[in-house]
Amino acid sequence: MEKRILALGGDGIGPEILGYGLRTAEVLARQAGIKLIIEQDLLHGASWDALGTFCSDEVLQKARQSDAVLVGAVGGPQWDNIRVPGGAEKQDGLMYLRHHLQTYLGLRPARGWKPLMRQTPFRSGLADTADVLILREMCGGAMFAHERGQRIRNGVRQGYDLTAYDEDEVSRFARGGFELARERRGRLVSCDKSNVMESYKLWRTVVTEVAQDYPDVAFEHMFADNCAYQLMQRPGDFDVVLCCNQMGDVLSDLTAVYAGSLGMLPSASLSANPASGPVFGMYESTAGSAPDIARRGIANPVGTILSVGMMFKYSFGLPEFASLLENAVEETLYDGILTPDLVGEANGSEMTDAILARVTG
Ligand code: NAD
Ligand code: MN
Repeated sequence: MEKRILALGGDGIGPEILGYGLRTAEVLARQAGIKLIIEQDLLHGASWDALGTFCSDEVLQKARQSDAVLVGAVGGPQWDNIRVPGGAEKQDGLMYLRHHLQTYLGLRPARGWKPLMRQTPFRSGLADTADVLILREMCGGAMFAHERGQRIRNGVRQGYDLTAYDEDEVSRFARGGFELARERRGRLVSCDKSNVMESYKLWRTVVTEVAQDYPDVAFEHMFADNCAYQLMQRPGDFDVVLCCNQMGDVLSDLTAVYAGSLGMLPSASLSANPASGPVFGMYESTAGSAPDIARRGIANPVGTILSVGMMFKYSFGLPEFASLLENAVEETLYDGILTPDLVGEANGSEMTDAILARVTG
């Protein structure tokens, strides 16, 4: 078997954590007996500086020819306020790829790790067994607003982004959520603000309609603000949480508190429902480019490493390698080989070595 990965380091800690991810992919591929064809290219700030665009046509072409894309991270203050004519996707290299590849199903799993519990604000027993899948819609909503800008209204400056979802965007996403809930613990919460916003009233209607096809999934709606509160108050009660693009962005960083560091969380953004077999996806740590710790070699590698596990599971059809990696990470945590964000003294490369030694060990 042969698999093609497009590897895009991006900015800040992106290139270093991508390196840890690629080492992981090589180790897993050797064990699985598959041949990896890895191509590297530029994304976002790195691409802007070299080519004057956040994502080149060549990169999009290469992504289309790959089985999966592995991303480091993108962004940094020097690029955050550059404006390019055109829609939201023109302003950001990752959003450009998400839009053109329609990787709408964003999986952001967050779990507690017993050996790290004292690094979290949770008292013992509260988040140890947390295992939540935040599902973030990746291609629509306010972040991809077609009507956006800044203007003068009634003599004052106004900024605006039209929040809109059409029913097809909501239903394909919700269907993915119910299918994933079936393969987990069979529980799904959909969060919205339908009490005060029209776009979420349609969201709630459509999710309710899709739910009719999944009577075996225990399903409820929750207002998003209350959902954020409940996620912290009783972490163990949640399984899958369905969120729009913006809520999912926020709630996934929030649930990283279970794991002891934002650097621990992986993600997958899939272009189709994975229930019917391997699908194309983009994989990256949930966190950003962490410019504050870039180029010091101390970034936590786990988010990217576990993202590679998700790649093997969802894009290569090899789910056993995701569990293998997760176990190796857990052993490494128990052995106390930790980066500084986890109050340890290992650098990212040493922690990666320790994890990979426990994969092959
Ligand atoms: P961030 O997620 O980059 O960092 C938040 C905090 O978490 C920082 O203290 C950082 O040091 C820490 N952190 C993140 N990853 C870590 C890791 N692997 N190991 C140890 N600590 C880690 O968020 P920010 O500082 O608000 O944003 C920085 C840039 O990243 C911005 O330009 C933003 O647009 C961009 N961003 C990109 C992505 C992405 O690439 N998917 C996601 C979020 C933000
Ligand atoms: Mn985010």
